[in-house]
Amino acid sequence: MEISYSAPAEQRDEGPDQFPAPVTRFAPSPTGLLHLGHAKSALFAAAKARALGGRFLLRIEDIDTGRSRPEFEQAIRDDLAWLGLTWPEPVLRQSDRFPVYDKFLHLLEEADLTYPCFCTRKDIAAEIAKAPSAPHGPDGPHYPGLCKGIPWEAARERIDAGEPHAIRLHSDRAAALTGPLSFSDAEAGRVEFDPAGIGDIVLARKDVPTSYHLSVCVDDALQFVSLVTRGTDLFEATKVHRVLQSLLGLPQPAYHHHDLVLDEGGRRLAKRTGALSLRALRDQGKTPAELRAMAGFPDWEGA
Ligand code: GLU
Repeated sequence: MEISYSAPAEQRDEGPDQFPAPVTRFAPSPTGLLHLGHAKSALFAAAKARALGGRFLLRIEDIDTGRSRPEFEQAIRDDLAWLGLTWPEPVLRQSDRFPVYDKFLHLLEEADLTYPCFCTRKDIAAEIAKAPSAPHGPDGPHYPGLCKGIPWEAARERIDAGEPHAIRLHSDRAAALTGPLSFSDAEAGRVEFDPAGIGDIVLARKDVPTSYHLSVCVDDALQFVSLVTRGTDLFEATKVHRVLQSLLGLPQPAYHHHDLVLDEGGRRLAKRTGALSLRALRDQGKTPAELRAMAGFPDWEGA
């Protein structure tokens, strides 16, 4: 049976699919301790679910098995429970699901929307340095396409010989299939964009058989997440996710990108800029109610 994309783009992009009560999620990576920015994100997602009679999920995004640690996963659970949050068990852990992501990757491969990339970071940086004004996407400068023209037979030989490679999206072919896309954000409204602008993003990394973009789209769909809440730092990534949802026939959630928590210097909180962890604030004697107020949710308990 032949399966083809028969619906015109206008019909496939009518705005988010509608659900009566939202399923939201907080999806941290267990690569360090949570800070106030994470507390805001988690409370934001839980508050949206609570206000509309929905469900709030916790998901552990640990595809980066080299950097993820069980003790950080435990700390995430402890810190969120201390803040007053609850979620259904079992919690989905992405590192348990590589075969699931692989199935979706195969769909894109079979549709001829991917290609293997053998480049090192150094190869890519050197090529980009030659054309510094090249376009940028959500993951930085677009991949300059060094491996895009490798004939399939030659690529196959290199793969069979064990050469490390990533799998990239053929974004121009993807854009031709999806046509212009949009997503709906609670603050920004309807955001329209040209899918070709996302660049040839990585679908499977060299060291990990998936990527953040692919696994987050698959899990949001398979967990019925209908309202994706997260910081504005991931606003551009949402364009990638809409493209993958459209190509894979996954439902379209609504989005709410919220402001980030900034330090006194106006910089986004991050461990490398010295942000205090929730753990450290707790050790200083802060109470859950004080932390919630600092994160912008002073009325949490009674809400
Ligand atoms: N795991 C991502 C992070 O820790 C968040 C994913 C998302 O909310 O889409 O930044």
